[in-house]
Formats: sequence, structure tokens, C-alpha cells
Amino acid sequence: MRSINNKIIFLGTGGGGSMVCLQKCSTAGFWANVEGVNLYFDPGPGAVWHIRQHGLIPDDLQGILVTHKHVDHTADLNALIEAVHYQMTRGGWNFKDYQVLVPADVYQEGYITKHHQKMPGKIIKVQPKQEYFLKHLKIKTTKKLVEKPYYKNKLDEFGYQVSGKKYRFTYLPETFYKKGLFTDLASELIILNAMKPTGDYYQQTKKIIKEISPQLVLLRHWVKKSLEYGIKKMARKLAKDTKVRIIALADGDVFDLTTKKISKK
Ligand SMILES: [Zn+2]
Repeated sequence: MRSINNKIIFLGTGGGGSMVCLQKCSTAGFWANVEGVNLYFDPGPGAVWHIRQHGLIPDDLQGILVTHKHVDHTADLNALIEAVHYQMTRGGWNFKDYQVLVPADVYQEGYITKHHQKMPGKIIKVQPKQEYFLKHLKIKTTKKLVEKPYYKNKLDEFGYQVSGKKYRFTYLPETFYKKGLFTDLASELIILNAMKPTGDYYQQTKKIIKEISPQLVLLRHWVKKSLEYGIKKMARKLAKDTKVRIIALADGDVFDLTTKKISKK
């Protein structure tokens, strides 16, 4: 059994339909331990399998947080709810002391089955710019984001800022830029889902980073085009264009919130 303190482990760094299909990068989402509280973000396809492969146990999770309903962020949501609920690693079952935070449409459109809706202690349908509490952590949602203009009014999408006593980070899913969308999002550390590395998509990502102006961006959510372009090349270009430190994440990378360094353990 692996325990991680104040670390974020990136079980998956892939995203989008192309990577759901190819799995050259896992689309499992990621696990964060912040001051003893274990959170899982965006359980896409393979989340439970990758949790086990990395020696983590679902029983330890106190929160599951979903940014939006697309399959690369929700495919394993029911499986993960069930895995936490039954607590089979410790032989227990019907565990209730965990929360699931999802945008309202994830709940209303049945992404959590009726059977699984009864399992967590609480399912919170998150709203923009609200504060929620998970143990001692404050979880603040961003304004409503826009993954692609195409999804306007078809998608509830939010980022999450997690603040403890000592540590703070913001996770932003793939989103387009809109002036002022990120201005109140002061954060030293951003985990950002990349979009395509060229053209307008690239410009959008650049503007978002510039508006937030964090000290460090951990970039993930690689689609097929990102791998073809080169993820390190994209990070270098973004760093040059924004003057912000950018790290291109790979599957299995572990970010230490204390040292701010990446390792494989
Ligand atoms: Zn995605």
C-alpha cells in the first residue's frame, strides 16, 4: 500500500476523444493528497485500474471531483464511487464518509446511475464561484468555463481551487479564454488541461496562463496532436511566450507540493 503526503500523482495525463481511443497516455485523471485529505479528479477511463496499478487504494479517498461530463473525465465515475463505497481492501462496506462534487448536468443527465447516487455521503452539484468544504480543505469553484464555443449552453464546466492550511492549487480543465474569466483566480500553482498545441487553441491556452500569471503550470490532458507535436516542445514554447515556468507532465509523475518538484515516487 502506497501512501502519499502532500503530493499529486498523475495516473493519467491524456485527454480528449483521440486519447480515450489510443491510450498512449492514460485518461485516468489524477489523485491528490493535500494535508492528509485524498482527492480524485476526473475519473476517466481506467481510473480504478490505474489507482490499483500505482499501489493506491480507493478506500482512502474522501472526495471525487469532476470538472465536466465528457467521457475522458467521467467514464469511471460510477466504478470509483463503488470502489470507495465497498472498501474491499479493508473488508468493510457501505462506507459513506466521502463526497462527490460534480457540475449539475453530470447529475441531472444521469452520469451517476441511480444505484450509485445512494452510495456517497453527499453528492454536491457545484455552482460557479462557490465554496465547499471537504474535511478542513476549502474547495472553490471557478466561474463557468467554456471547453469549446460549440458547447456553449450545453455543458456545465468548472475548475477547482483547493486550499488547505499550507497548500493551495487550482485545477483547470480544458477551456477557452474569455476576458476576465480567470482574473480572480490568484494561484501560484495551476494544473492545466492543454488543448491542441497549435493555431487558435494554442493562443487560448497562452492567454489563460497570462491572465492568471501563476508561478508554475503543470500541463496535462494530451491529445493525439499534442504527442505528435511534442509535449515538451509545447511546454517550452508556452514558457517562452508567457514567462511562466511550465512542466509537461507524463503518466506516473508525482508532484511534491512541498518541494515543487516532479519525481516518479
Ligand atoms: Zn477532456
